[in-house]
Order: sequence, then structure tokens, then C-alpha cells
Amino acid sequence: MDAIYEPARQIPVIREADVCVLGGSCTGVFAAIRAARLGMKVLLIEKEGMLGGAAVGGLINIWHTLMDTENREQVIAGLTEEVISLLKARRALTVQNNRSSTYNFNPMELTILLDELIRENGVDLMLHTAYASAAAEGERVKAVIVENKDGRGAVKASFFIDATGDALVARDLGLPLYVHDYIQPPTPVFHLQGNLHGVDVDGLIRAHGAEFGLPDDWGWSTHVAGLEGISMRADQHIFGLRCDRADDLTRAEVEGRRLVRGLVSLLQAYGRSDTHYAISNLCSSLGIRETVHVRTRFRAEEFALLTGQRYDDPILNGTYPVDVHHPDDGGISFKYLDGTRTTIWGKGTRTETGNWREEAGLSGPPAAYYQVPFSILVGERYGNFAAAGRMVNADTGAYGALRVMVNLNQLGEAAGVAAALCLERGETMQTLDGHSVTSALRKGGSAL
Ligand SMILES: Cc1cc2nc3c(=O)[nH]c(=O)nc-3n(C[C@H](O)[C@H](O)[C@H](O)COP(=O)(O)OP(=O)(O)OC[C@H]3O[C@@H](n4cnc5c(N)ncnc54)[C@H](O)[C@@H]3O)c2cc1C
Repeated sequence: MDAIYEPARQIPVIREADVCVLGGSCTGVFAAIRAARLGMKVLLIEKEGMLGGAAVGGLINIWHTLMDTENREQVIAGLTEEVISLLKARRALTVQNNRSSTYNFNPMELTILLDELIRENGVDLMLHTAYASAAAEGERVKAVIVENKDGRGAVKASFFIDATGDALVARDLGLPLYVHDYIQPPTPVFHLQGNLHGVDVDGLIRAHGAEFGLPDDWGWSTHVAGLEGISMRADQHIFGLRCDRADDLTRAEVEGRRLVRGLVSLLQAYGRSDTHYAISNLCSSLGIRETVHVRTRFRAEEFALLTGQRYDDPILNGTYPVDVHHPDDGGISFKYLDGTRTTIWGKGTRTETGNWREEAGLSGPPAAYYQVPFSILVGERYGNFAAAGRMVNADTGAYGALRVMVNLNQLGEAAGVAAALCLERGETMQTLDGHSVTSALRKGGSAL
């Protein structure tokens, strides 16, 4: 490969912190707040101009239930619950009583609220600042290099949390990463203005999608809390492109926007004649479901998760089912804790159902929720580093369940708490006792 030589240069140290969090989705924000609440001086670095990650830039505005599957015990609390209450008070969140009793929020309100929480908790924030590389000395991460309008700068910290989604810091540190054979495909999301009453969008795509280059592919949509006449649309996938590769990601973004325009054209041609369909908001970043995973001491596995394996140092409780978007055939497969399993292809073109518990010969009551232990955050190297978010160490099925925000929010909180405890006690991630993390999480409001 042709190459040029970049001369070595001195990089000014622009910030110093106890804990530096890279990536400002709720995973990163919650990590930062938890560490700050335990007395740490925290710096949060985000490459975009807004906090919230995929929930904001990707317009993904659903959080799932905080209750167990029997709706008896609240199993998720902490910062997720705090944010839900605050959004509700601003009339920026509604509760939908469907199977997983989801919370539907206004992403623009979420990002404003996250700004406020960051400020109130004394977290130092750098927006429009991109992580570029990491510097380690022995088994410790010493600094990260970032780039922003001032140029290149170094940030020194005693602990680093990688919440970039794609495990960019872990990659540069040479930590072991892997990809699934079955990578869940991305989706472009947008807000559609226009009355859809009486319009069967799925039926229109089945009947006329080909005229607009829209395949018969599974998708979904919802409302946006507090907005009239606007729906959030996630109708199509983009297949065969890897979102952790620069050229593929560029192609995927452009193809995503073509699909969005195709759907609007279809509605303008075949939707209600009394309605003007228009794009009122377009995701600033494609909705990426999956890229790489970081190998850590514990790998979540589908069977243990769905059968509710318990741990004595849990950092996450969850109920969201295994939900795997197929990488190639426009289908989606769900497996619920109660045994139900469903696969749907296209816009409901074909469906297959069954019961995975009966098929596995399981009897007795199903689990009401699942857990993962602290060791899911512990790598084999670097005592002052943790990665939290969709790079979580999980097999395909377990990832299908863990990848939703109410779960990743908890991984963020646990990473922030672990960072603070490591620094307070002079421990490393590898020597830190998981029970102490669980108990500090509980003390800070988690329902573990
Ligand atoms: C279409 C779609 C629908 C979904 N539906 C739901 C749903 O209904 N409910 C649900 O809970 N989950 C849903 N998910 C899954 C969920 O949204 C994601 O798994 C989750 O948001 C990932 O969170 P994360 O923190 O790991 O990553 P991200 O949200 O991607 O956050 C990573 C952050 O790091 C920042 N970053 C990246 N690189 C750098 C850098 N170099 N320097 C600084 N910052 C950087 C990014 O800008 C971003 O803010 C959906 C996903 C998709 C794609």
C-alpha cells in the first residue's frame, strides 16, 4: 500500500481527569455521571455536537420495560429510571402498554436533558471532539489523542472508558476483537410528517415497493412522544455492508437516504391523496445495530441468558428478548423468556412460530428476567480500561437481547462505578471484586 510519513510531533496535554469517557450516548453519559457521583473528576468526549448516540443521532426513541416479564418486580432502575421520570415531567415521554411496555421519548428532548445532567453532575464535556488514538505504558492506558477545532490534543486520565460503540479505543490498544458470522444489519431512521390513518404502509411496500427500489423487508415504526402528525420510521435494512469499515459506512449512509426518499415517494404516489408526506427529520447517523465485540472474561450466551442464570455480582438485569435482524433475507427472529419464538420475513409475508423451551425439553416456570456478571466488563489486559456498549462480549443470540438501551445503559453505569472503585481502592479491573461493584450500583439506585 502507498503511504506517507507523518513526522513525530509534540501533542499538548489539553485536559487531565480521573476518568475519561469516550463516546456520549447514554452508555457513556451514564458511565460519566456514575463516576462523578462517586467523587471522580470526569471528562466526557463526544465526536458529534449532541449527546445521546443512536438514541439522538439515529432517532431511536424507544426504551423497554423496567419490570420483569410478569410485571411484578422492577428489575431496572438507576439512571434509566431517573431519565424516564425527568422526560415524563417535560411531557417528552409516553408509556406504551404493549408486550414490553416501552417508553417512547422525544430524542431532541433527551439530548437537552443529557446536557443538563452532565452539567449538574459536574462532568467536564467536550463536544465535536473525536477520539483519534490511544497511548499505553505497560498495562496502563496513559492518554488518548483527540481532534477538534483546536487541532490535536492529548487527554491524560487515570481510567478510560470506551463507549464509542465500535470499540475504537480497545481496537487501538490491541485488545482482542471479534465479529459474528451473523452481523445484524443497519437501518436508516427518519421522521415522517403526514397522516397515515387507513394507510397500510407494509401492504403498499409489498405491492409497489419495487417501483421505488424498496425490497420486501421487515421493518417497524412508532410515534414520537409529544409530536402530532409525525411518525418515526425504520422500515428497511441495508444488507452486505460492514459499518465498522469507512467505505462501507459511507455507502450505507447514502443507500439509507435513498431508501428513505423511496418510501416518501411511494407514499406521495399511493398514500392518502389529502396528505402531503414529507421528511421532517433525518437521522444524522445511520442506525448501526452491530459491528465488533470485545473479548472479556465473561461471554454472554443465549441459553444461559434466556433461562435466567443468576450471578452473585450482577451488573445488569434485563428482560428484552433475543431479537436478531437477519443479515441477508429481510427477516427477524424473536425468542422470549417465556418460550415463544417467532420469525417474520418481509412485511409480514411469511411467519413461523414455535416454543424454544419445549423444543429444548425445558419444564418448570420460565425466568422472569436475566442477568450478566461484572466479569463481562473485565478484559485480560489494561487495569485502567473498560469498554461498555454494543461491543459487549456476547454470542449472536445473547447480543440480540443485550443490545437494547435499557441494558447498555446499565453496562455504562457499571463501567463508571468500576472506574471510581478502582481509583479509590488502588485496584485494577482484573483485581476489583465484582461484589463491590454490585453493591455500589445498588447504593446508587440500581435495582440489582
Ligand atoms: C434501527 C435501530 C433500531 C433500534 N431499536 C431499538 C429500540 O427500539 N430500543 C432500544 O433500546 N435499542 C434499539 N436499538 C439498539 C440500540 O439503539 C443500540 O444498540 C444502542 O443505542 C447502542 O448504544 P452504544 O452506546 O453502544 O452506541 P452508540 O449509541 O452508537 O454510541 C456511541 C457514541 O460514541 C460516539 N463516538 C463514536 N466514535 C467516536 C470517536 N471517535 N470519538 C468520540 N466519540 C465517538 C458516537 O458519536 C456516539 O455518541 C436499535 C438499533 C437500531 C440500529
